[in-house]
Amino acid sequence: MASYAEFHRRSIQDREGFWAEQAKLIHWHQPCSEVLDYSRPPFARWFVGGETSLCYNALDRHIAARGDQNALVWISTEVGESRTFTYKQLLAEVNRAAAMLQSLGVKKGERVILYLPMIPEACFAILACARLGAVHSVVFGGFAAASLAARIDDARPALMITADGGSRMGKTVLYKSLVDEALKLARHPPQKLLIFKRGLDYAMPVVQGRDLDWKALQKDFANAELACAWLESNEPSYILYTSGTTGQPKGVQRDVGGYAVALAASMRNIFCGEAGETMFTTSDIGWVVGHSYIIYAPLIAGMTTIMYEGVPIRPDAGIWWKIVQDHQVDVMFSAPTAIRVLKKHDPAYLKKYDVSSLKHLFLAGEPLDEPTHVWITESLGRPVIDHYWQTETGWPLLSAQPGVEKTRLKMGSPSFPVYGYDVRLLHEATGQPVPDGEKGVVTIAPPLPPGCMSTVWGDDERFVETYFKDFKDQLIYSTFDWGIRDKDGYYFILGRTDDVINVAGHRLGTREIEEAVSMHPNIAECAVVGVADSLKGQLPLAFAVAKDVSKLSSAEGKRRLEKEVMATVDKHLGAIARPKAVHFVTLLPKTRSGKTLRRSIQALAEGRDPGDLTTIEDPNALEQIKQALHA
Ligand code: AMP
Repeated sequence: MASYAEFHRRSIQDREGFWAEQAKLIHWHQPCSEVLDYSRPPFARWFVGGETSLCYNALDRHIAARGDQNALVWISTEVGESRTFTYKQLLAEVNRAAAMLQSLGVKKGERVILYLPMIPEACFAILACARLGAVHSVVFGGFAAASLAARIDDARPALMITADGGSRMGKTVLYKSLVDEALKLARHPPQKLLIFKRGLDYAMPVVQGRDLDWKALQKDFANAELACAWLESNEPSYILYTSGTTGQPKGVQRDVGGYAVALAASMRNIFCGEAGETMFTTSDIGWVVGHSYIIYAPLIAGMTTIMYEGVPIRPDAGIWWKIVQDHQVDVMFSAPTAIRVLKKHDPAYLKKYDVSSLKHLFLAGEPLDEPTHVWITESLGRPVIDHYWQTETGWPLLSAQPGVEKTRLKMGSPSFPVYGYDVRLLHEATGQPVPDGEKGVVTIAPPLPPGCMSTVWGDDERFVETYFKDFKDQLIYSTFDWGIRDKDGYYFILGRTDDVINVAGHRLGTREIEEAVSMHPNIAECAVVGVADSLKGQLPLAFAVAKDVSKLSSAEGKRRLEKEVMATVDKHLGAIARPKAVHFVTLLPKTRSGKTLRRSIQALAEGRDPGDLTTIEDPNALEQIKQALHA
């Protein structure tokens, strides 16, 4: 077996040869004529002219060898149910769903927005879109109506799919009513809304002529069989919206062939998941981890994937380990916050179940602090691999790659650059590589490898401007994360270089939250920063200037306005973005050119030195921040 260093070196020096080899891991209806077209930097087109299908690779391809093997196991501790689908059964479900979508006029290239809880139908709908060549865009169920409306207007879907409701911690979450609200706000709503009724919302209102019932409609397609649409490798497979530094979320556009190859290769080289084995990824289908490692990658690899609706501590903190034992899970993927939650519970839960089937537990989505890494490694007695990536990359960018070489793990480090990624740590100001042991910006020299975003949906210029212009004189992809490499070549991620924060693995733009806070009629302006939190990594904290201060003379008046502001954020963005507190001040610290000094505010909120303040307009503003924090 090639050593990691040699494997990585080859992936960069002989890019095309390397990826042509990896491309053999998937089925091509038509082989490509060119492995890489990089004639228009930084746009990389992989496997040009090749035709394939994510759905064919995930399902049809496995029917002969493993038709009766489980493909999808759905477990809901929320509604106390589980359902299992073999590859044959899952293919039949996807065929029915695809025929149903087709009957509603969904065609190749058209968008379908999914606002769905963690139910098997979400998996059917995603794969049905892939079968038809339609572009799915899953919106995380925690987003509020206004956020959903913004995504609808950007994607302009032909159809939306939702459910009557979801369930969280035993409480029903009304999905359909939220969609109704979003469709009222949207300027370009689709004509049709398909609803899967779970019986969670009996009072659900129905809009005649627009709302359609999944179960009733599907009856007409019980035995449908639909051939897969073959797509050119670079056609879009999906859009996934993610937060950045502006208020407007970006539609990360993914291709077909490059993504399928990248996922298949990652299962072999990073996750060590083999056909016939079982993978359990605890994320949500609304996030990139759910797309890649609940749905596509395990199925492309011929594995059984476990989809879980519930939280890690209900009915008790042993539930995930019970699932590992009961289903003999080989590969598990979760997030640091979940592990920190479990750390607060009785460690006996980890000993109660036999987790020896696990080859590795992978953790990603936010920084994994060293104590948590040590704790989970010792408690589980299995290797725990921290790995780092982004919605944009679609698959890991820094990770140990045990399928290539079993390198030693260092606690708190996502190890090394993954093959295909030419990672450079650059000095923030000079753009020069930093020496080992010095902090730099994590960047990737293009072309980005297969599987990474192809562009921003509908906006090539924004793709280039957002990601490739961080350094004046070079076209290089910025992750907007700080990193450091030690003398052994191990990387450590030190947090974001921009105004994006990470709350329990959920990425939020502070600008977006500021816009939501400012929706309150009594808020003139505000600044939102992320402050360290021992459980969730970071939490948003808001400082706001009120228009009418007369209501703020009493502590009770302040509390009331704070609550109203929080409710405004819930309504416009979703409860995941709700600030931990809202402090009222009469002015915000700004530079003389009018830029809010967010980093200084953040430093004060975390009890650190506020840094260089020579450009501050009015030092009294910072004094107010200090007092507000003190109070
Ligand atoms: P998202 O696109 O929502 O998955 O967020 C990606 C961001 O999460 C990255 O840019 C990092 O800031 C952070 N992140 C993801 N994985 C890790 C990790 N293993 N260690 C540190 N930060 C991470």
